[in-house]
Amino acid sequence: MTSVFDLQATDGDARAGVLHTAHGDVPTPAFMPVGTKATVKTVDPDELRALGASIILGNAYHLHFRPGSGTIAELGGLHAFMAWDGPILTDSGGFQVFSLRDTLLEADDDGVTFRSVYDGRPERFTPELSARIQRELGSDVAMCLDICPPAGVPRTALEEAVRRTTLWARRQRDLDRAPGQLRFAITQGGLDSEVRRRSSEELVPLDFDGYAIGGLSVGEEREPMFDATSHAASYLPAEKPRYFMGIGDPEGVIEVIARGIDMFDCVLPTRTARTVSALTFEGRLNMRNARFARDPRPLDEHCGCPACARFSRAYIRHLVNQQEILGLRLLSLHNLRFLMDLVRDARQAIERGTFESWRDDARSRLTLQRVEM
Ligand SMILES: [Zn+2]
Repeated sequence: MTSVFDLQATDGDARAGVLHTAHGDVPTPAFMPVGTKATVKTVDPDELRALGASIILGNAYHLHFRPGSGTIAELGGLHAFMAWDGPILTDSGGFQVFSLRDTLLEADDDGVTFRSVYDGRPERFTPELSARIQRELGSDVAMCLDICPPAGVPRTALEEAVRRTTLWARRQRDLDRAPGQLRFAITQGGLDSEVRRRSSEELVPLDFDGYAIGGLSVGEEREPMFDATSHAASYLPAEKPRYFMGIGDPEGVIEVIARGIDMFDCVLPTRTARTVSALTFEGRLNMRNARFARDPRPLDEHCGCPACARFSRAYIRHLVNQQEILGLRLLSLHNLRFLMDLVRDARQAIERGTFESWRDDARSRLTLQRVEM
């Protein structure tokens, strides 16, 4: 049996590797575009592939309610349903249950009760149900249902989240899976290094295929979050993939790669597009700005995305000001490509052993970005 993950190069704590899945290999570090509702908003699968995406995300919570994982299973599973034949990782729904505003009703050791964001009716998720949804979806990587507390809760709440997350991980480990499906556990502990260590010490002996770092990027300050990332990564086995849940701004991506993270996801590139901003190395450009009205240049001179290959800033500004859908699509394609290229360059730098100098250079170019949010 081949291993799930091959670590190919390290440079400091940064790592380059390959995750092997039933639908293909994923070079890491890997940014995973988020396709919450079985679509990466406005972008079709051929375009995703052309942008350099090798794995995308789906979400058990949303797909359970609309259209239902049973329906998707009848239609051949999530890959067939959304016409993406590459690797898919599905989130367990835990993050949605605990973070969607005012919907949580009650959590106990058996599961969690909440109001559906779709119709407000009380619903219940258990570790077993989340695993079944993900099996029916047929994703390549299934995530364990966990307890994700918000930032700033007392240590006792972090400890309780860890206790229950471990209890649930034990129950999920050996449940039926889709063919070839991998299962990752999620460590919790917020910013508390001791609690995080305990979470890892409880989960690592259970020998999951990979480990996620959950409960960060939930509203805390950035520097303590990066410190916690270093600690959390150091408690995980070197030979298994490490997934930081929910980071996708260019600066943040570079920082978690530097701390030994292999995979990460975020809605930021497509959400930023819908707020009509372009990620570039000369700033985060608000495309409504009048200064682009006669600007014939592409969004980014160095970008090879479909938006930059053919269209000017002036044209994209016109589109977004007229609320033309093509404007949002072009910005989504560009922003995704920007992150894909950034992560690809990071990987090459790790392979060459020049990650630190690449990181310094990328950071200094990106700091120009704050000008215009
Ligand atoms: Zn572009």
